[in-house]
Amino acid sequence: MRYHELVGVFAGLEAESSTLKKADLLAGLLSRTPPDLLKPVVYMTTGNIFPPWMNREINVGDKTVISAIVMATGATKIQVQNLLREQGDLGSVATLLLTSRAQHTLFRQELTVAHVHQTFQKIAGMDGSGSQDAKISSVAELISNARPESARYIIRTALGQLRMGVGDGIMRDAISSAFTVNKEVVEKANAVLNDYGEVAVLASRGESELTDLKLRLFRPIKVMLYPKAEKVDDALASAGQPAQFEFKYDGFRTQIHKKGEEVRIYTRRLDDITFQFPDVVTAVRRGIRAREAIIDSETIGIDPATGRWVPFQNISQRIRRKYDIEKLVQTLPVETHVFDLLFLDGRSLLDMPLAERFRRVQDVVTPDPSDGIRVAEHLVTADPAQARAFYQTALDRGLEGIMVKNLQAGYKPGQRVGLGYKVKPETETLDLVIVGADWGEGRRTSWLSSFELAVVGPDGGFLPAGKMGTGMTDSDLTNLTETLKPDITRQHGKQVQLKPRMVVEVGYQEIQKSPTYASGFALRFPRLVRIRDDRKPEDADTLDRLKTIYAKQFSRGEKP
Ligand code: AMP
Repeated sequence: MRYHELVGVFAGLEAESSTLKKADLLAGLLSRTPPDLLKPVVYMTTGNIFPPWMNREINVGDKTVISAIVMATGATKIQVQNLLREQGDLGSVATLLLTSRAQHTLFRQELTVAHVHQTFQKIAGMDGSGSQDAKISSVAELISNARPESARYIIRTALGQLRMGVGDGIMRDAISSAFTVNKEVVEKANAVLNDYGEVAVLASRGESELTDLKLRLFRPIKVMLYPKAEKVDDALASAGQPAQFEFKYDGFRTQIHKKGEEVRIYTRRLDDITFQFPDVVTAVRRGIRAREAIIDSETIGIDPATGRWVPFQNISQRIRRKYDIEKLVQTLPVETHVFDLLFLDGRSLLDMPLAERFRRVQDVVTPDPSDGIRVAEHLVTADPAQARAFYQTALDRGLEGIMVKNLQAGYKPGQRVGLGYKVKPETETLDLVIVGADWGEGRRTSWLSSFELAVVGPDGGFLPAGKMGTGMTDSDLTNLTETLKPDITRQHGKQVQLKPRMVVEVGYQEIQKSPTYASGFALRFPRLVRIRDDRKPEDADTLDRLKTIYAKQFSRGEKP
């Protein structure tokens, strides 16, 4: 298969914005790809050359690519840099230079998909002295044999910047339609294999190849996730009675694979963080009594002085740290709380009910907590009062909340199905002043239906921070409209300006920075909690409070 053919599809994928059509294009490509090239084609379409579980990248930087372009096209470095300033990306620079090099075709040897893939694999493996020059000449070889349009994609691939919007969903749909296999089966297979290349190969042989896939040690699988329930009682009612309650630790998810003394630790995104956590490796070697195991757990930071748990943001730096690891082990110690076991001594436990898996967790985790690994705090109950007390204990101990899990449920990799729930407190609400509104449309024409909300600024003025259009019943709208009508100070089309008089308590998903509103912030999805007749506008929340909540939310950071 010629690389040029792949590039034709890349260009189509890039130009297409509909996910449906992207999946169609990709399905067409996969169905004409010979089986031995399915893996490279899948990897390269997602901008890599390795499957995700390998955690390997090509690792070529701008400087290397610039030198390779110079070598392949005969342009000078200055010319390349000037063109880069003009074009914005090195892929376009190479395409332009190759187009203008008239005799280019005379030297070209048609690139194949297999050759490009192998060359990139070789480049990724180059290390140590002389590797820089070797990388440059390998990339240059690809460029000089590439058609102008292909060079663009070769360079983007080298730099890890091939962004064509082919995510897991599109890949799943494409494989499903190329080989007429059920979408769900494809998705489940990928949750175990974490490799759509391999899934495509199996799918091409028939759907039966995709079912009953075996877990493999040191091949991380996608973790099971739990939707949110509003209240402990709701979670208990839905998760089955009795249900298993567990502390929800505010650390980060660790999937730990063990075979004898060999231990590897993966994050929720399946990145390998073994190197950064030698302390967890030791804890697992000491504290897990199993020859082979795949453990699902949460690793949480502790304050070395007090031994108390600390929030995730305090230890987040350990995850990406490449140096001073031993020092961080001392200053930012962690402990691991095991809540599930997916594989034990040669046997997959995925289909076993949680109750039985958890019994095995209790068997394999040593009772000695000084090992740094322990069984997650848990309670099995059907009693709502006990459940609520357990939740309160978790909050009192500074945790995020609890998990409520169905005792009969199997482990569903990569899925967020209702086989368990997380329960945590709402984000803090804000009391805000209504300073404007829009008249509604359709059924809502006679009501004010979207409300501009403001905080109190440093000089006592009101600064808008978003618009609320949900959470209101018809009676709320009637009430708000009647109350606010006399406050209208100006009307422009459907928009009205209001005297700042009414205060409302508002929930929201998060606070974002925004140039649209005078406060500089915007609430995401604000919704009415209640009208606060008891509050005066000047007592509403201030810009400072908004800033504080924003900073808190920001410093929590995104979990790995
Ligand atoms: P969230 O990130 O809010 O969707 O919550 C899910 C995350 O909670 C999981 O990915 C885990 O990292 C974490 N977690 C903490 N304790 C537990 C537990 N006992 N069971 C499952 N997940 C837990």
